[in-house]
Amino acid sequence: MLVFKFGGASVQDAEGLRRLLRLVQTYGGDSLWIVVSAMGKTTNLLENVVQAVRDDRWPEAMEFWGQIREAHLERIRPLRLESGPMSSSPECPDLEQVLDTWMNRLLEELHALRGSQLSYNCFYDQVVGYGELLSTALVSAYFEQNKWGHRWVDARDLLVTDATWRDARIQWDVTVQRIQEVQSQSLRNQKGVTCVLTQGFIGRDGVSGRSTTLGREGSDFTASVIAHALHARELWVWKDVDGVMDADPRLFPMARLLPTLSYLEAVEMTYYGATVIHPKTIQPLQNKGIPLRVRSFLHPEAPGTLIGGTDNTDQRHSCVIVKKNQGLLELVSKDFSFISEEGLSMIYRALYEQGLKANLARHTAVSFSLVVDNDRYKLQPVRDALSPFFEIHLTEGLSLWTLMHQSDKMRRGLLSGKQWLFEQHLNDIYQYVVVE
Ligand code: ADP
Ligand code: ASP
Ligand code: MG
Repeated sequence: MLVFKFGGASVQDAEGLRRLLRLVQTYGGDSLWIVVSAMGKTTNLLENVVQAVRDDRWPEAMEFWGQIREAHLERIRPLRLESGPMSSSPECPDLEQVLDTWMNRLLEELHALRGSQLSYNCFYDQVVGYGELLSTALVSAYFEQNKWGHRWVDARDLLVTDATWRDARIQWDVTVQRIQEVQSQSLRNQKGVTCVLTQGFIGRDGVSGRSTTLGREGSDFTASVIAHALHARELWVWKDVDGVMDADPRLFPMARLLPTLSYLEAVEMTYYGATVIHPKTIQPLQNKGIPLRVRSFLHPEAPGTLIGGTDNTDQRHSCVIVKKNQGLLELVSKDFSFISEEGLSMIYRALYEQGLKANLARHTAVSFSLVVDNDRYKLQPVRDALSPFFEIHLTEGLSLWTLMHQSDKMRRGLLSGKQWLFEQHLNDIYQYVVVE
């Protein structure tokens, strides 16, 4: 059996939905799970809805709600026209009706949550997962229009998590059991295929029953959890690039495809910020030796990248990873005391509580410098928590360049004309805090 994952870019328009069905029919084999993210940039719009409701700007929240509806309507309009009036029947729901059912559920949820005492992060999780619910409901209706038998499953009934809102941790035993139950209950369709369709990114807190999310870009991880639970033959993630390249092709048009990568290399690349795969994706696959294929939905005939197998230290691939929009946070203890373990743990706790990570860190006797994602909503509470103890200075407009397994000459070439504040290296991984 195979697991396919389709991200936001693959379902951003009507052609994306048509293509998804073709790929499923052509490459899906006879037992397939399909994990789909929210369409296009829906999750960002839902984040705007959350912010507006929390700030008591209801009319603005409704404007964003309207934009989400309109964007989906535009995606499905060509599909409705092509399937004709006969397509709407109790067995085959009209795509616009499906859209409105889910948009109204979202609206009801917003009304119910408005004025509630929930924490911001918990509130966020009750709302943003609607992007995935909407997209899979529409894909499901489109499958029905095209008589592609499948079963739609609410991923919140499968992925049981803790209550770490916005970064929920999977409770593995019960999650694996539920996924296996669905697999064993699923029936073959007319073409002899068992096909299950579900959402990425969302789960449910096993205690409160509230919706949770796995962290932004977390749908790759959902697909990996499912592949792990079912001992899948392979997981294929369909992307808008030819596979994993030695640099982000959006930033480096000359980037080259890496046809194979070991699990360890993939873990390292994602850890340092290669956004092509979510960092949590690799481990559940590696535990079971399940290969991960990164393939292009635009050139499906191309082989893409195959991730798997053990690491060969002599054959490490060189690559470049650029994390943009970074800030350098410099902390000097107010009484000039040494930076102690206690001070460090306070700093790391403040970051952890905001879901921030030290992308690079170094300390001297009395100062500590951290490179972090420059997200002002998250950094302000960090500064508030630490300012009684430290003088804090933030330098903005930076990016963090990680050059892995490159020769001196390659590094010099890449950095020519660049200015950087400082560098660090460990073995042959070099990092530079570059002024943008
Ligand atoms: P999805 O639609 O599945 O969420 P993403 O947009 O998250 O897909 O990931 C694909 C994007 O990752 C590409 O468009 C590309 O710009 C970016 N990317 C970053 N680093 C790399 C890399 N090393 N190789 C390929 N793509 C990369
Ligand atoms: N829709 C979610 C996001 O945009 C999850 C994902 O795309 O993987 O972050
Ligand atoms: Mg993504």
